[in-house]
Amino acid sequence: LVAAPLTETKATCCYCGVGCGVLIQSDGEKVVAVRGDPDHPANYGRLCTKGSTLHLSARPALQQQARALYPELRLARTDQRERASWATTLDFLANKFAATIRDHGPDSVGFYLSGQLLTEDYYVFNKLAKGLIGTNNVDTNSRLCMSSAVAGYKQTLGADAPPPCYEDIDQADVIFLVGSNTAYAHPIVYRRIEDARKANPALKVIVADPRRTDTAREADLFLPILPGTDVALFNGMLHICLWEDLVDLDYIVAHTEGFAELKQTVREYTPKMVAEICGINEADLMQAARWFGQAKAALSMYCQGLNQSSSGTAKNAALINLHLATHQIGKPGAGPFSLTGQPNAMGGREVGGLATMLSGHRDLGNPQHRAEIAALWGIDAVPEKPGKSAVEMFEAVRTGEIKLIWIVCTNPAQSMPEQAMIREALSNAELVVVQEAYRTTASCDYADVLLPASTWSEKEGTVTNSERRITRFKSVLPKLAESRHDWEIAVEFARKLEAVMGKDKSLFPFAGTEEIWNEHRESTRGRDLDITGLSFKILEEQGPQQWPYPEGATTGKKRLYEDGIFPTASGRARFVNTVYQPVADRVDARYPFHLTTGRLRDQWHGMSRTGTVAQLFAHAAEPAVAMSKTDMERRQLHNGDLVHVTSKHGSQIFPVALGEDMRAGQVFVGMHWGEEYVSGRGRDGDGSHGVNALTSPAYDPSSKQPELKHAAVKILKA
Ligand code: SF4
Repeated sequence: LVAAPLTETKATCCYCGVGCGVLIQSDGEKVVAVRGDPDHPANYGRLCTKGSTLHLSARPALQQQARALYPELRLARTDQRERASWATTLDFLANKFAATIRDHGPDSVGFYLSGQLLTEDYYVFNKLAKGLIGTNNVDTNSRLCMSSAVAGYKQTLGADAPPPCYEDIDQADVIFLVGSNTAYAHPIVYRRIEDARKANPALKVIVADPRRTDTAREADLFLPILPGTDVALFNGMLHICLWEDLVDLDYIVAHTEGFAELKQTVREYTPKMVAEICGINEADLMQAARWFGQAKAALSMYCQGLNQSSSGTAKNAALINLHLATHQIGKPGAGPFSLTGQPNAMGGREVGGLATMLSGHRDLGNPQHRAEIAALWGIDAVPEKPGKSAVEMFEAVRTGEIKLIWIVCTNPAQSMPEQAMIREALSNAELVVVQEAYRTTASCDYADVLLPASTWSEKEGTVTNSERRITRFKSVLPKLAESRHDWEIAVEFARKLEAVMGKDKSLFPFAGTEEIWNEHRESTRGRDLDITGLSFKILEEQGPQQWPYPEGATTGKKRLYEDGIFPTASGRARFVNTVYQPVADRVDARYPFHLTTGRLRDQWHGMSRTGTVAQLFAHAAEPAVAMSKTDMERRQLHNGDLVHVTSKHGSQIFPVALGEDMRAGQVFVGMHWGEEYVSGRGRDGDGSHGVNALTSPAYDPSSKQPELKHAAVKILKA
């Protein structure tokens, strides 16, 4: 036998928003190996443990066990799903959706998408909901990930656009990591920070986090703030900068508005008061403010600690206020840099993949923006009524307001807060459609229709990473069994629905991803993210590019706002008058512990992919509730003892583990394990749903992002 020749194809890692380039080695039937792409500007050849084991999650035997291979359908909830053809399944869905829309209106259906979809998948689903069906009920798990960053950027800078780039890490002299265990959640960014420290020993790293994480241990200054107190911290730092004349008044006068009101507010945030609210040392607070304010270039990097909060928008805005007041923005090495959680949450935002947005960073609430998209799509109008955001959408499913829910590439039966409500919603729905590559997710258990989708190494299209860099990649392997690409499923369903609805012209004339992307590209013309100068050909020949990249440009824009002009009506950045609000679930005598949640180093989301790779369990083999030595001794608990962890939203049993990174009064549980891992007995209805059985559905009033990072809990020995 002659072995098939190996090919090497450029792609990106399908995990976090760092967006590392990978080279996939394949024999045409399977992925043989991966290595970091030395030419990709996100990682220059490096990969973390997750990225470097990607090939192990693409092994044929595992794929057969874990993957959804063909469409399945059931007509009654009491039936088992049975294998069906694509034609039968999509005809059924088109007729069901058409009848429901006719009888109950377009808002009786909803789509819940994912930041792991490619930009082209996202675009088509948005057009399907907003353009064909006439509902804005299309939201995504990016709502759980980056929506507070979106709202924070828009309120202050006027557009959802992270100003810095990865290169700024090399040029900063202060890096402020806040609400981010970068060493675990964005490991390749962290490697770059380590390199920058080696190259510049004077570089100061400040970390603010409730836990003494691996990232915090390495910091020059660690601020162990109490959960949810970030706004007080940032306002306090601004107070000190004002008092010590570290703000840039010339920049404030020339390029911003709204400072006078904010100045009045931060006057109240004295170092003593802030130190008390945050539970930190006053001298450390002073030091952090001075380092930040005196820096030639201060770069903040932040993630879900800011975003997954009932005051997430204010946290983002308060940090950006600090950057604006000290002119730590729009220059090399400086700026507020949100680290995207998922691989393509940015791309989803670009095509308007949220219930309140439209393509090209347009606002649904803006009549001009709606008219522009209607003209582009050739329809009379885009519906004006805002769609339901993630938590609202499942609440509407629970009450019957939304009757049909179509879930794509995400697992709300694990990742949404207050699992009791989510599972009641999925049980109550008239029809649950799950479009998935993996049939092992908890949400698949609720599916009346299961649509098998292709996944990493099989898909082709584009993604955008944290630094606004678009990468295009091609498929390496053929689609598995009867699975189809996500955009193909949406397009074929849309055409069938158009036929049932009697439409004589299709809005979906797409034959491939390039045609979809070209339409998306046109929607960005004249917008802050204008990519009309880019093409698939340029992306292929010149490699990944940052937006904006307008017509006539020869390169993307590395860094935004270097000219001091912002995409607001006045051209000035806006200070937001941010006021500290405590977490939604307050600790009290009944629920005395702060529970925080987060990622572990070697797992990704609900583990549908990383859970198939044995060596990724070497770092953490099972879920546990991490607790301080003081609290364990006080409760006479030992490593491995089982405890009931109970919040106002639910109760779970976990083994307890000594957490050397934990402060007394706080506990931590990783977000990755769902019911089969927690109970160890499979999905037997025993009520074990992972940590999100405990988290609060309270959400930020602007971004609607829920407070997945925190709940007040009590802990009793089981
Ligand atoms: Fe993948 Fe993120 Fe690791 Fe890069 S840092 S290899 S994108 S998981």
